[in-house]
Amino acid sequence: MFNEIDQYQEIRDAVRQLCRQFPDEYFREVDARKGYPEKFVDALIDAGWLAAMIPEQYGGAGLGLTAATVIMEEINRCGGNAGAVHGQMYNMGTLLRNGSAAQKEKYLPDIAAGRLRIQSMAVTEPTTGTDTTRIKTSAVKKDGRYVVNGQKVWISRVQHSDLMILLARTTPLAQVRKKSEGMSIFIVDLHEAIGRGLTVRPIPNLVNHETNELFFENLEIPEENLIGEEGKGFRYILDGLNAERTLIAAECIGDGYWFIEKARKYACERVVFDRPIGQNQGVQFPIADAFIEVEAANLMRFEAARRFDAHQSCGAQANMAKYLAAKASWEAANVCLQTHGGFGFANEYDVERKFRETRLYQVAPVSTNLIYAYVAEHVLGMPRSF
Ligand SMILES: Cc1cc2nc3c(=O)[nH]c(=O)nc-3n(C[C@H](O)[C@H](O)[C@H](O)COP(=O)(O)OP(=O)(O)OC[C@H]3O[C@@H](n4cnc5c(N)ncnc54)[C@H](O)[C@@H]3O)c2cc1C
Repeated sequence: MFNEIDQYQEIRDAVRQLCRQFPDEYFREVDARKGYPEKFVDALIDAGWLAAMIPEQYGGAGLGLTAATVIMEEINRCGGNAGAVHGQMYNMGTLLRNGSAAQKEKYLPDIAAGRLRIQSMAVTEPTTGTDTTRIKTSAVKKDGRYVVNGQKVWISRVQHSDLMILLARTTPLAQVRKKSEGMSIFIVDLHEAIGRGLTVRPIPNLVNHETNELFFENLEIPEENLIGEEGKGFRYILDGLNAERTLIAAECIGDGYWFIEKARKYACERVVFDRPIGQNQGVQFPIADAFIEVEAANLMRFEAARRFDAHQSCGAQANMAKYLAAKASWEAANVCLQTHGGFGFANEYDVERKFRETRLYQVAPVSTNLIYAYVAEHVLGMPRSF
């Protein structure tokens, strides 16, 4: 398998060893009580894995995106869900690329040491959805502070984070030359903000994924929490998307391998009509098909990560990797469930849990149609559709 010969075996082995302390029963129990895998996340932070991409000067490991994707892949491949922690990887990148020297000094060493979590990014709004440039949440500068009003939806991990990156309009849409201008990003100290202008309302959902509605009512953010230049926030968020998409592609690859191994094993063990069900081509071919799709998606994921680490343009590859991997993991999930017959529906096999978890990635953080639109416009040169 492609994975077995890559140069990241040492990282794989170390993450697998950590994950072995958190068997399927652990994640099943967390899922059943709709909890957060606190002990698992603590162990990842203590071992330094979430600081993988923080430069050594701030106490991180200084690794590239490829290594980071291997960490995320292994978590999902071992039966866990990196969705509980992946925000830390890409939000830290937004701060690292666009923050001032003072902001980096202030936050990055504490993030690297595990004293601060920057797990949340607030972009999506209920009335504008994917049409991000029309966001209505505003931040108005007043006496050395920004005053924020508005609403966000689907904002993940807020209850398990110390800091959040917020996208808000600092110049009204009607007053900007281009609709992508006039938005800014801020670091929000959640401990300061919650109850003092920020209200958090959890959204019960299909997956055990902590996600929330946020209501901003005259929330005051100190001026020094603006990241980069005022009005350029949308650009900064876009710059981070390639890393986010590649990391999530790797999580889907991890899910895909988990489903295939689970289906393969069950198909070899389950005997019906006096033979293993996996002896039937009707059972084994879909598993082989799903494996081929995951392997192919994996190549695109490594290509996207390689280009990112080499500072080459990688928007097309990151989008295509996310698309292929999310599709492959969902197909593998379906095949795995089908292979298990009725038992696939039982919680104790973990298939239904992973099935729900991997489905998310065709919708978030970017939906499949938006990837088609990106490829049609930016790769194939077709007219912009929105
Ligand atoms: C569990 C979960 C966690 C999330 N976490 C976060 C988070 O932490 N931070 C954050 O900011 N957001 C988060 N999101 C939001 C997520 O990024 C959005 O749900 C996603 O981008 C789609 O936006 P929407 O739900 O508003 O769908 P809409 O924009 O309303 O779109 C609905 C459907 O219509 C399609 N569509 C819309 N416009 C077009 C078009 N022009 N052409 C073709 N098809 C179109 C879309 O592809 C989609 O399938 C999360 C979502 C979920 C479900």
